[in-house]
Amino acid sequence: MKIGCHLSSSGGYLAMGQTAESIGANVFQFFTRNPRGGAAKPIDIRDVDAFLKFAEEKGIGPILAHAPYTLNAAGAEKRVTDFALEVMIDDLKRLEYTPGALYNFHPGSHVGQGAEKGIELIANHLIKVLEATGPIKTTILLETMAGKGSEVGRNFGEIKSIIDKVEQSLITHHSSLIASTRLGVCLDTCHVWDGGYDIVNDLDGVLDEFDQVIGLDRLKAIHLNDSMNVLAAHKDRHEKIGKGKLTLEGIARIINHPKLKDLPFYLETPCDLQGYKEEIALLKGLRK
Ligand code: FE
Ligand code: FE
Ligand code: ZN
Repeated sequence: MKIGCHLSSSGGYLAMGQTAESIGANVFQFFTRNPRGGAAKPIDIRDVDAFLKFAEEKGIGPILAHAPYTLNAAGAEKRVTDFALEVMIDDLKRLEYTPGALYNFHPGSHVGQGAEKGIELIANHLIKVLEATGPIKTTILLETMAGKGSEVGRNFGEIKSIIDKVEQSLITHHSSLIASTRLGVCLDTCHVWDGGYDIVNDLDGVLDEFDQVIGLDRLKAIHLNDSMNVLAAHKDRHEKIGKGKLTLEGIARIINHPKLKDLPFYLETPCDLQGYKEEIALLKGLRK
């Protein structure tokens, strides 16, 4: 089972790998920089090399880098969208040091411009990012959102529209980038539940819908969180595993579902390291 959690990146890559191992994790997520934005620390090649060796020995990966959640590719102000571009290009260049990483981002919030405009802005943003980076070894993931405020990506259709627009544009204008561009989806269990997808009582139905709308081959990672709120609450408040509305039984079905069980699961529950260690042990115990 590929299971881990969000870790602090303040000690570097090797420290994250070692922390992961110490809590029984074999995958982990981290912020590429302070989640509120700001400059990322320069890449320390010795640290990265030591981590890659450690990860290989211990079977750790894939690692999931999370873009700052303040980044808004669908913003209405140039200052906001320029910042989103700058950060994402820089993050993807840095991730070339850890080939095969996943890079997850929140598609954005349309801030009153409408979902359609938001989708267009996010697609154009991704095209500009890919033009700037050139071929990359990282898979870019769009995260499913709870639909809080004016979030884009509140349903599978919005995510699919963004992916389609990017790929169509690449086919037409940048055919050299098609082979190296991997766009996928990170499904956040709290977010989809809050977004109105009943993964507790109808997991099969939701996964069928995902497959029909986006395609399950696009699903590359799961953010495994319980939710404090009821179905379709559009709130996005993560809860500890088994303590929220998804229930322990619901979460057990998710981690054991034949269409999900081989994916990497990343916990983003309100836990400290000891709490994550206990949740990981709990989930391994629920695994059939
Ligand atoms: Fe997220
Ligand atoms: Fe998430
Ligand atoms: Zn969330």
